Amino acid sequence: MLNIHLVPCLSDNYAYLVHDTATNKVAVVDPSEAAPVLAALKAHGLALTHILNTHHHFDHTGGNLELKETTGAKVVGPRADRERIPGIDEEVGEGNTWSLGSAKAKIFDIPAHTKGHIAFWFEADKAVFTGDTMFAMGCGRLFEGTPAQMWSSLSKLAALPADTRVYCGHEYTLSNGKFAVSLEPGNQALKSRMADVERLRAENKPTIPSTIGLERETNPFLRPASPELRKSLALETADVVEVFAETRRRKDVFK
Ligand code: ZN
Ligand code: FE
Repeated sequence: MLNIHLVPCLSDNYAYLVHDTATNKVAVVDPSEAAPVLAALKAHGLALTHILNTHHHFDHTGGNLELKETTGAKVVGPRADRERIPGIDEEVGEGNTWSLGSAKAKIFDIPAHTKGHIAFWFEADKAVFTGDTMFAMGCGRLFEGTPAQMWSSLSKLAALPADTRVYCGHEYTLSNGKFAVSLEPGNQALKSRMADVERLRAENKPTIPSTIGLERETNPFLRPASPELRKSLALETADVVEVFAETRRRKDVFK
């Protein structure tokens, strides 16, 4: 069984401690910086064995080298971006299975935010780490890929079981939700989720994890088939990638 602990980093990043209780192996996912991760390890009485990176951006790998030096943990990252992952020891990609002690993760390649971006799906524990590809009610910017690639990456994640918990790279949920409401003001699931999110953020609490089921109902980037969203974009007859691309473009300039 996995225990998962959120570790807030920088201004709006989350790293995650992932603890396989059967074997006492402990990974950190996407450590922006070492200090809060070391403090969390100490608070939970855990010793780090692995560092997992979803992609190379500094706010996901900035703590790699210091954590590796301090704890001897091994760095696991995307094969497609091996040269940009600080301290990488093990490369993984689509179709691989990677094990944290007794917990198995299936790896997906989910490029478009960056050319090498992966997800770790712990199927038995119903948890997926999505980095900057899928956010709660949002998706990452397309820095190194096309809308079609991002749509394909998100579709892999959206196809996971509805009760899969989604652990993403940032606390962007409130602003993502405001954008979502602008496109689907009549979406009841979205309205009720926003009430929860507003309450949590007012108390300065995290909105993570989400679930795949909730994302399917409320994330505009998974909803290019929604008649209301299409009407908002005046794209009633466009294909799904075109609707997705326009949704992403609108988000880039949304205030
Ligand atoms: Zn990023
Ligand atoms: Fe990021």
